[in-house]
Amino acid sequence: MLEVRGLAKSFGDTAVLRSVDLDLLPGRVVCLIGPSGSGKTTVLRSLNGLETPDGGTLRAPLTGLEVDFSEPLTNATRNRVRDLSAMVFQQHNLFPHLTVLENVTEGPLRVQGRPRAEVEEEAHALLDRVGLHGKSGAFPAELSGGQQQRVGIVRALALRPQLLLFDEPTSSLDPELVGEVLSVMKGLADDGWTMVVVTHELAFARDVADDVLFLDGGVVLERGAPADIFTAPREERTRRFLDRLM
Ligand code: ATP
Repeated sequence: MLEVRGLAKSFGDTAVLRSVDLDLLPGRVVCLIGPSGSGKTTVLRSLNGLETPDGGTLRAPLTGLEVDFSEPLTNATRNRVRDLSAMVFQQHNLFPHLTVLENVTEGPLRVQGRPRAEVEEEAHALLDRVGLHGKSGAFPAELSGGQQQRVGIVRALALRPQLLLFDEPTSSLDPELVGEVLSVMKGLADDGWTMVVVTHELAFARDVADDVLFLDGGVVLERGAPADIFTAPREERTRRFLDRLM
């Protein structure tokens, strides 16, 4: 479903991604782990079209999309990259002046131009699905951090993407609210969503990921099944990183 090869991105003289390969089959969950500044967010932002990589290729065979980032992208290609995925951010980024329902339906209505009745019905069902029944008329400030982040997840789902991208979705939450968000994410994985998750929650990665990629210095230093990476990492740097977190 997604095949990324040699993804490269520099900011000025700093090469943040040197050459990142990533494969994702439908229904699989990949967790990206690694030290601060290793390029995890830049990978997600590149997949979502929020950054334009300087090099590398992206193929999404199911949609026939093939992109070579070393060449200038047309607007049509850029839009197809954006449409492939939806992102859940570290901070939920909800609009404070819009209700929960308006936040969730804004993209499908305004960007995708879908019919209001269908979009709202789907939004209510998704809100129910993540335990937010009865909250559609609330404003973000009236919700807990965990509830806000669950709205952020529903907003991504409402776009009907092929791929969900999560950028440390629990890192700004109080510890007692982390579990409810991780459990929604686990439910989505169980439902067969295809996901790329940047996380420091190693227990989640161990439990939910099919593959774990350890990013360091803009390359994937080590990749494998969670059972292998977490119990017997091959690289010394992976071991040191895991020792600090576990
Ligand atoms: P963290 O775990 O701290 O979120 P990360 O692994 O997600 O880190 P990135 O956010 O991808 O890392 O950033 C990698 C490097 O790229 C950092 O040194 C960061 O300062 C730099 N960087 C990211 N975005 C930009 C930008 N728009 N302009 C300049 N430098 C940037």
